[in-house]
Amino acid sequence: MPLDLCVPCAGGTQHLYPAVLFGEQELVLVDCGYPGGLPLLEEALEARNLRMEEVTTLVLTHQDDDHIGGAAELKAKYPRVQVLASLVEAPYLSGERKNLRLRQAEDLQKCLPEGQKEFGRQFCRRLRMVKPVFPDGLLCPGETFDWGGGCEILSTPGHTPGHISIRALDNTFMITGDAAVVENGELALANPGFCLDLAEAERSLEHLKKYHCGRYICYHGGTLCL
Ligand SMILES: [Zn+2]
Repeated sequence: MPLDLCVPCAGGTQHLYPAVLFGEQELVLVDCGYPGGLPLLEEALEARNLRMEEVTTLVLTHQDDDHIGGAAELKAKYPRVQVLASLVEAPYLSGERKNLRLRQAEDLQKCLPEGQKEFGRQFCRRLRMVKPVFPDGLLCPGETFDWGGGCEILSTPGHTPGHISIRALDNTFMITGDAAVVENGELALANPGFCLDLAEAERSLEHLKKYHCGRYICYHGGTLCL
């Protein structure tokens, strides 16, 4: 089930769609919004008659600030929530390795035209403000859970190297993170300019599509029902 996070941003609002999955013993949240966004997340859960106190598990699909930014704050307020991420992404979440989006932004900054340099500087500043979060457990591609009636972790690299998605074993849903977005009623690549490996991201998108899932729940763009 997707939540609707309506996030104020320059010039308006942005909608993000973290997902919630029910397991027999667990209530799983997939991705959690920007730094400072915990009250919005709590409200979005309440709109679904759920409370953050019930959440047992937070799965982070990848290291971008719009997905993990709220994780440290969430873990501080709700310490029993277990944070899970892929083996490849984990060191970027904990700060053991430098965030790859920040590295990309700093590299781009050098060749930005003068008029865009201030925007670039602000973007880098924003990324540096993300607090590290230490995953409590690691997820492996192919690992299965009872969440959502049975699902598996899919490796969908490209946007970032360790990006993961979650597929229902009966293909009733797919949680895509940023491996796919909904654009004009179709699945598309999330901002190709941000893909750290574009060819790999294209392969991951095709991989997601081939399951012909009933619903693709995308963090950006919402849900596509087939
Ligand atoms: Zn994103």
